[in-house]
Amino acid sequence: MIVRQKLRRAELSRGVRLIPLGGLNEIGKNITILEMRGRILIIDCGVSFPNDEMYGVDIVIPDFSYLIKNRERICGLILTHGHEDHIGAIPYLLKEIAVPIYGTRLTLGLVENKLHEHGLTADLQIIQAGEKVQIGPFRIETIRITHSIADSIALAIETSAGVIFHTGDFKIDYTPLDGEPIDFQRLARIGERGVLLMLADSTNAERKGYTPSERTVGVTLENIFRNSKARILTATFASNVHRLQRIIDTAVMFNRKVAISGRSMVNVVRLATEIGYLKIPQQTLVDINKIKNIKDSELLIITTGSQGEPMSALSRMANNEHKTVQIKKGDMVILSSSPIPGNEKTVSNIVNRLFEKGAEVIYSDIADIHVTGHACAEELKLMHMLIRPKYFMPVHGEYRHLRQHGILAENMGLPANHIFQLENGEVLQLKRNSIVKTKEKIPCSPVMVDGLGVGDVGNIVLRDRKLLSAGGLIIAVAVIDKASGMLVGGPDIISRGFVYVKESEDLIEAARVVVAEQIEKCLMENSRDWPAIKTAIRNELTSFIFKQTRRSPVILPILMEV
Ligand SMILES: [Zn+2]
Ligand SMILES: [Zn+2]
Repeated sequence: MIVRQKLRRAELSRGVRLIPLGGLNEIGKNITILEMRGRILIIDCGVSFPNDEMYGVDIVIPDFSYLIKNRERICGLILTHGHEDHIGAIPYLLKEIAVPIYGTRLTLGLVENKLHEHGLTADLQIIQAGEKVQIGPFRIETIRITHSIADSIALAIETSAGVIFHTGDFKIDYTPLDGEPIDFQRLARIGERGVLLMLADSTNAERKGYTPSERTVGVTLENIFRNSKARILTATFASNVHRLQRIIDTAVMFNRKVAISGRSMVNVVRLATEIGYLKIPQQTLVDINKIKNIKDSELLIITTGSQGEPMSALSRMANNEHKTVQIKKGDMVILSSSPIPGNEKTVSNIVNRLFEKGAEVIYSDIADIHVTGHACAEELKLMHMLIRPKYFMPVHGEYRHLRQHGILAENMGLPANHIFQLENGEVLQLKRNSIVKTKEKIPCSPVMVDGLGVGDVGNIVLRDRKLLSAGGLIIAVAVIDKASGMLVGGPDIISRGFVYVKESEDLIEAARVVVAEQIEKCLMENSRDWPAIKTAIRNELTSFIFKQTRRSPVILPILMEV
């Protein structure tokens, strides 16, 4: 009890602290925590996608060890919007800690879908954009903001040190499709009352000017539909409900039926229709399995796969692996998105394959078929102007995006020492009217998820996977008689991904001899030290293979005693 009290006092005296556990110097894995009076508020909990070095890894999630250690102090998780880089890691957090989740309707609908897939339930608290909520000691005002998903909010969080304003992901769309623009008056009022620290989206800080309105996409779409008699297929982000609505409206306008393909697309369309965010006239939707009965000029297929994801519906269509839809000559394919940084190559591959199949492909490089969901420089300036924070921390971006956003803030008149370009895990200490960066570093290395395994793929496993992918594998198996210490079976050489054995019989035979000689030598010396024999085999075979082939496969000796 006394220990607990002491602990509490220590936590209380820490004041207000802000710690980004992800989302800095990377695109994705957004999660920030805020501490006050010993309580912890989590803001967003997203995933990122593996880089090229992470062989076989499905997704990357934040390191929750600090949160697990401080689980009793956590009072809630609040979500800015329903994109994967903000909600994707929630099931993994909930498997460790039960925490109430606050978010707008669409956001929580998407979370619920996700939890359902993992067989989880949670305490979900729906908030309306514009509402105020109290989570533990934190009083939070939510503000409607425009982004590439409906129901996005910014957060103004009252703390004992002052107001922290978090933009969430945003762009400034004066004419959004749902007619619900950013609440500028509220933003101005919040700025007027005084903001100690602003955290703002940096994704497009390098881009000059303004992002065009979502409406510009509508005009382009209309032109394409008006001039086409072909079957039209559109790939876009399932979560971009506004874009989906515009695409469906256009189809209806030109008397086309709509079929939906791809699991996440089907899920989102169902959810968004249920809660009234997506309005589809009756008779418009048709089952993807029944499209054969519909003329090409009267059909639109909406599909996932705008990022070239290998398992997505569009990718399977392009590879003739889709159950019901094959791309054929004359099809019109619209990729209504632009590649997320890192996905350029896979998207380019899919565009090539679609062209090869004889389809006409329209993508963001050649038409205004996508607008970004993130503010460009001029919009960021407007946000800085409205909020006028005393301190600023660029978030949501790679190092260069954060840097450019920092420069932008400096150009807007903020002193350089009031701008914090942090790394994940660094700690800001907030005091009344001042902020300092502490020397503390909270552990937050990326945690890799592969299949059902969370965090069991570490550096050693990755190194093995890298070596295997680069050089293949050779296994040398030998059977040794326990009693006599004689080699009684093998050695046999098995290889995978190294050379095709049938075409390299001489090499494999020579390798076999090398291994046999090595084993005989060790056994002659009466050695029963199996690990040492294995090492000798590995060394000898490695240098032999390298001399013969200039290659370095992974070599795995196996000795069996009988
Ligand atoms: Zn987003
Ligand atoms: Zn994001």
